Amino acid sequence: MLAMNYRGPFRVRTDEKPYPKILHPEDAIVRVTRSCICGSDLHLYHGLVPDTRVGSTFGHEFIGIVEEVGSQVTEIQVGDHVLVPFNIACGKCAFCKQELYGNCHESNPEATAVGGIFGYSHTAGGYDGGQAEYVRVPYANVGPTRIPPEMDPDDAVLLADVVPTAYQAAEMGGIKRVIQ
Ligand SMILES: [Zn+2]
Ligand SMILES: [Zn+2]
Repeated sequence: MLAMNYRGPFRVRTDEKPYPKILHPEDAIVRVTRSCICGSDLHLYHGLVPDTRVGSTFGHEFIGIVEEVGSQVTEIQVGDHVLVPFNIACGKCAFCKQELYGNCHESNPEATAVGGIFGYSHTAGGYDGGQAEYVRVPYANVGPTRIPPEMDPDDAVLLADVVPTAYQAAEMGGIKRVIQ
């Protein structure tokens, strides 16, 4: 399959990479239909994120069609069009139970401050991301959500990071609705 391939700071290209495999019964393989380049991908591109390894594929904002599911995936099915949030979360650890999915310690046992993130260096778990034709999605019962048929895919992909991040910033900033 074709995928973005990091070759070192300021060097990226598109290469043929192996089609991802189901590695765990809760994995899904998703065929990407929309993928974004995030402003925070520039930190990877500039070589500023620790342990960004040559050969990795960026991309934490994507949607796609479920192509394959592992034997323990019950929440999504082959053929579903799904939105995949950028945080990879197990749904079961102490952080996930408090809905602090970004801190999941199962998806990124090496880290203390951040859970797994698609396409965001080995500091964030070393998962290949969605700037590719196909992605392996771990814990597929937890993160992916079916996209309602009436939703425009161009809108849906914004829910993978951009809109929730902005929403959280507005909430943390104490922005209030002004009624005129
Ligand atoms: Zn992003
Ligand atoms: Zn967790």
